[in-house]
Amino acid sequence: MRILITGGAGFLGSHLCRRLINDGNEVVCVDNFITSDEGNIRDLLNNPKFSVRTHDISESLLIDGELDWVMHFASPASPKDYLKYPIKTLKVGLLGTYNCLGICKAKKAKFFLASTSEIYGDPLVTPQPEEYWGNVNPIGPRSCYDEAKRAAEALTFAYYRQNGINVRVIRIFNTYGPYMRVDDGRVVSNFICHALTNQELTIYGNGLQTRSFCYVDDLIEGITKFMEVDYPGPLNLGTPFEFTVLELANKVITLTGSKSKIKFLPLPEDDPKQRRPDITKARAMLNWQPKISLEEGLNRTIKYFTIKVGKTV
Ligand code: NAD
Ligand code: UDP
Repeated sequence: MRILITGGAGFLGSHLCRRLINDGNEVVCVDNFITSDEGNIRDLLNNPKFSVRTHDISESLLIDGELDWVMHFASPASPKDYLKYPIKTLKVGLLGTYNCLGICKAKKAKFFLASTSEIYGDPLVTPQPEEYWGNVNPIGPRSCYDEAKRAAEALTFAYYRQNGINVRVIRIFNTYGPYMRVDDGRVVSNFICHALTNQELTIYGNGLQTRSFCYVDDLIEGITKFMEVDYPGPLNLGTPFEFTVLELANKVITLTGSKSKIKFLPLPEDDPKQRRPDITKARAMLNWQPKISLEEGLNRTIKYFTIKVGKTV
């Protein structure tokens, strides 16, 4: 297959490019490198099955040749990044999704949307099933991301209903692993990089808020399985094992053998108190569930950042 991946140079996108090429496909990566650099895809640059277009997908894009899939992963994804780029985040969720769906319509390609657990906002139901409509502040600081993704889902389902585009929508829950940026600000990369350099680990709030951390290889496996199933979604992908941020900090300190102390900082506005996916549907439809434990995933990620931090700091 020939597959266009927007955001293909990012954390998840680069893993996806690598996986789909290894599976025998041709990948066209479209990225404007706003939250990434070429480093994540350097190993692919000489591969004849891989090409890169430096382009902002919020602007229209002409692509030569046929396409089987357009997979829309482009978007600032870390709170630190989307708080810095709120308008660009809204544009890539709205106009970027619209442009991708237009390409699908023209090329008779299938569309795959990387949506997010953030569409559930600060959930009042736990674990969160796909049927839950969420609890999102439409004008809060995180709304540029949450509402962009909610609109992206609405656009996707409008094209599905009106134009018969074959679509897949996944809601990704906190995923981590190699190829995250050292300074991307998300909790796993922050804690590991701070621990490796013996800086204080910064916990926002009292650390009792929860997240469910999925290792990237498990997520990518779920994505490729979902491509083979004829169901539009939305489908939750993530791990159902929930940890507090404080538990994560202590685990990272233990696994790195760090001397770092913990420092408590104010909780950012609208920071969700809990997040845990109900993956009953993904289990049944894809025969999939995450296999890699938090400890194993953290150890692999620590190995990656040990080299990164050694090189850059
Ligand atoms: P990332 O920031 O590492 O990657 C995003 C990529 O998109 C970067 O390469 C960036 O340069 C590119 N990009 C951003 N705006 C663009 C634009 N207008 N045009 C072209 N390229 C653009 O983030 P990630 O964690 O890899 O997230 C990838 C996707 O998955 C995002 O859509 C995000 O919302 C979604 N997601 C990720 C997680 C997670 O835990 N990692 C959770 C939920 C959803
Ligand atoms: N967090 C933290 N310290 C950090 C980074 C994040 O305590 O250095 C907290 C953050 O407030 C949130 C959780 O960790 O409660 C997950 O944050 P992240 O930015 O990884 O993603 P989110 O799930 O909020 O999108």
